[in-house]
Amino acid sequence: MARRRQIYEGKAKILYEGPEPGTLIQYFKDDATAFNAQKRGTINGKGVLNNRISEHVFTMLGNIGVPHHFIRRLNMREQLIRQVEIVPIEVVVRNVAAGSLTKRLGVEEGTQLPRTLIEYCYKDDALGDPLVAEEHIACFNWCTQEELHDIQDMAIRINDFMSGMFAAVGIRLVDFKLEFGRHYDGDFSRIILADEISPDGCRLWDMATGEKMDKDRFRRDLGGEVEAYQEVARRLGLMPENEETAILDLDSHRKKKS
Ligand code: 5GP
Repeated sequence: MARRRQIYEGKAKILYEGPEPGTLIQYFKDDATAFNAQKRGTINGKGVLNNRISEHVFTMLGNIGVPHHFIRRLNMREQLIRQVEIVPIEVVVRNVAAGSLTKRLGVEEGTQLPRTLIEYCYKDDALGDPLVAEEHIACFNWCTQEELHDIQDMAIRINDFMSGMFAAVGIRLVDFKLEFGRHYDGDFSRIILADEISPDGCRLWDMATGEKMDKDRFRRDLGGEVEAYQEVARRLGLMPENEETAILDLDSHRKKKS
């Protein structure tokens, strides 16, 4: 049997060649990094939860007409996706001041922003994903003006939808990061949503208690990372009561059994 070909390994995911041309398999790892990979760790079961949460969010976004790369979940840690050419920009959408915005501008964490803020970072690990302006995107031709308009429209729609989806389960969507790619169909390409949407790349605060339910628990050494991710999955209806172990890692489940 031939071993499948690895296309790319990132900090939290691995991409393998897919079963058909134009497809890839996205594998979710338990590895966690923060502060441009200066802090590294493992969150047991994170990959399984992120795979499930991301499947759910992408499916819901597809239902409202947002084009995306997700095709279907294959198993606990893998999903089949469409191959895209990633636009080298991280799109950060903010509703509430937190993280790098508070440090950069001295705004107090938790301040509700008067309007949704969209920021762009150039995807380059060696440079630490620096913040850039629309002018840089145009100047270095990271995407066309038309593509950037599509990205902005989608980012706003995604934010509106996700803010409502999380609010309905008592979670405040503070900010999040999106990535987009070009999907080619013959000579034409269109921008579609790519990567993942999970507590790794979103700030999610419990509306009642203000408790953090995202990767800030790891970044700030707060502990309880898996429990927080599990709670997000549970509230989204992805973990039926009494089946909490079912979603967790099959390997650790087997080990426990034996
Ligand atoms: P900040 O700029 O405040 O560090 O991050 C803003 C939002 O984007 C947060 O929700 C954060 O999780 C997400 N984000 C920014 N950069 C990255 C990244 O490189 N990886 C991931 N997973 N999320 C990111």
